[in-house]
Amino acid sequence: MNIILLGPPGAGKGTQARHLVETRGMTQLSTGDMLREAKDSGTEMGKIVADVMAKGELVTDEIVIGLIREKLQGEKTEGFIFDGFPRTLAQADALAELMAEQGETLNAVIEMRVDDDALVDRITARSTCGNCGEVYNDHTKPIPADGVCTNCGEKAEFKRRADDNAESLKQRLLEYYKKTSPLIGYYYAKGQLTAIDGLGEIDEVRARIAEVLDATAS
Ligand code: ADP
Repeated sequence: MNIILLGPPGAGKGTQARHLVETRGMTQLSTGDMLREAKDSGTEMGKIVADVMAKGELVTDEIVIGLIREKLQGEKTEGFIFDGFPRTLAQADALAELMAEQGETLNAVIEMRVDDDALVDRITARSTCGNCGEVYNDHTKPIPADGVCTNCGEKAEFKRRADDNAESLKQRLLEYYKKTSPLIGYYYAKGQLTAIDGLGEIDEVRARIAEVLDATAS
């Protein structure tokens, strides 16, 4: 089963995608993670995208479509979770073409709805385990006092993302509303959209997503 998790920055797409990888053996395709890897590895492409990402703007369609194309041609798994892709209508069209080429079907698009105040709150309080990527939140899930990650059990360095600051976040939200939110209408019109409430405990959101996936599978 192939699905898209759609929603603004901080909606919880990455957290939920990681859970689906663990429980359903699906493969997470996060263009944000791929771009951060490229940035950290210091490649030519990494240098180009670093500045764009830090400002909270979108990287070109050409670059992200190229990244996704490469992954789709890789090994087949229990299905793909597209996380942070597509972010523009051009990317959505490209994804439809790439899926058709690979003989794959897009089974569901899950829109995670979270109100804007909560997004700002979540993102400015967010940090992740440098070892396994587990997400922490200063208010609801603080970094353990002993510095040992509750997920991987390692003594880890906890990192804040360079673009998780008030200024880039404002730009990321603007980009979302201008360029990505039209995808809600696009997938609704195609009959593929299901919206869920992204607020509440992580487990509650997990259950809402599971319900959609189980209904899609049956
Ligand atoms: P978030 O959803 O929290 O904003 P991501 O990790 O998905 O974070 O993305 C971080 C940044 O990477 C974005 O602000 C953007 O610069 C870039 N990016 C990620 N995915 C895409 C995409 N599909 N198209 C264009 N830019 C992207």
